[in-house]
Amino acid sequence: MSGKLRTNIFSGLEQIVEKDYSLSEKTWFGLGGKAEFFIQPQTVEQLADVVRRCSENNISLRVLGYGSNLLIRDEGVKGVVIKLDGEEFCKVEQKEHSIIAGAGADLSKLVLDCVRKGLGGIESLAGIPGSIGGAVRMNAGGNFGDFGSAVESVTLMDNEGKVFEKSKPELSFDYRQTNITAKIILAAKLKMIEADPQQLLRSVKEVWIYKKNTQPLNMKSAGCVFKNPRGMSAGAMIDRSGLKGSKIGGASVSEKHANFIVAEKGCKSSDVITLIDLIKKKVKDKFDVSLELEIEIW
Ligand SMILES: Cc1cc2nc3c(=O)[nH]c(=O)nc-3n(C[C@H](O)[C@H](O)[C@H](O)COP(=O)(O)OP(=O)(O)OC[C@H]3O[C@@H](n4cnc5c(N)ncnc54)[C@H](O)[C@@H]3O)c2cc1C
Repeated sequence: MSGKLRTNIFSGLEQIVEKDYSLSEKTWFGLGGKAEFFIQPQTVEQLADVVRRCSENNISLRVLGYGSNLLIRDEGVKGVVIKLDGEEFCKVEQKEHSIIAGAGADLSKLVLDCVRKGLGGIESLAGIPGSIGGAVRMNAGGNFGDFGSAVESVTLMDNEGKVFEKSKPELSFDYRQTNITAKIILAAKLKMIEADPQQLLRSVKEVWIYKKNTQPLNMKSAGCVFKNPRGMSAGAMIDRSGLKGSKIGGASVSEKHANFIVAEKGCKSSDVITLIDLIKKKVKDKFDVSLELEIEIW
C-alpha cells in the first residue's frame, strides 16, 4: 500500500495522528528512529476507532508506555505507535481500599501518593520508572516484590476495540510477564492494605537506597537488559565474563550493574544491539546459558 493510501486510513483523526514522529525522546534510552504513525487518542472511543482501523487494514499496532523498558531501532517503527497520555487514560481513583489506575498514570507518582495515604501494597515498586500499563505488561518488580501481587483485575481492549475485564485467578503474573494477550491495557484495579505512612516511607527509602547504590540511575538506560535465568543472576554472569565497562560505539556495560547497558552521547541503537549480541555470545561461551532479553526491541 502506498504511503498516501496508508495515511488515508486515519482520515478524520488528523488531530491525534502524527506521521514520521521521532520516538527517541519518548524513551529512557533516548535512542531510535521514527514511528510511521504516532497516535495519541484522547478517549476510549477514539482509541477503539484507531484499533479497528489498524485491524481492518493490517497495520501493526504497538502501545508505548513511558519507554523505560524499550529500545527503538535506528530505522524506526513501521505501523502505529499509540501513547495513552490523554486525561481519560491517566485517571487514578480510590474506592475504599482499592485503587483504579489508568494505564497512562505514572507508577512512581502513584507509589508516593499511596504511601502518603497510608495504603500499602505497591511500596516495593519505588524507583521503578514507567506507566501503570507498562508495569502490568512487564509485571515490574524486583527483590522486594512485584506489581502483579497488588493487581486484582485489569481493563483491556481487544483488536476489535471491545473493552473487557480480566480478574484473578484468570489473570496471572510471573517473572516479568503476565498471561494478558490483549494488545491494550486500559487500567488496573489494585488491592491496597491500610498501613502506617511512616513505615511505608521507611520501606520506600530502603528500596531507593538499594537501587541508588546498585544501579546507574543517572544514566540513559532501559533498566536490566536480560532476564535472570532461573536461580542465576544475569548481571553476575555478565560481570564474570569480564564484560563490565565493555564498549561499542556509545553503548557500554555499566560499571555499576553489569545487566545495565548505558547510552552515552552519540550512541546509536545499533551500538546497543551489537553490545547485546556480544554479551549473549560471551555468556553462552562461558556458562553455556542463553540469556533472554528483558527489554523489548522495536
Ligand atoms: C533506571 C531504570 C530502572 C529500572 N528498574 C526496574 C526494576 O527494578 N524492575 C523492573 O521490573 N523494571 C525496571 N525497569 C524497567 C521498566 O521501568 C519497567 O519495565 C516498566 O514497567 C516499563 O513501563 P513503561 O511504561 O516505561 O513501558 P514501556 O517501556 O513503554 O513498554 C514496555 C512494554 O509494555 C507495553 N505497554 C506499555 N503500556 C501498555 C499499555 N497501556 N497496554 C499494553 N501494553 C503496554 C509496551 O508495549 C511494551 O511491550 C527499569 C528501567 C529503568 C530505566
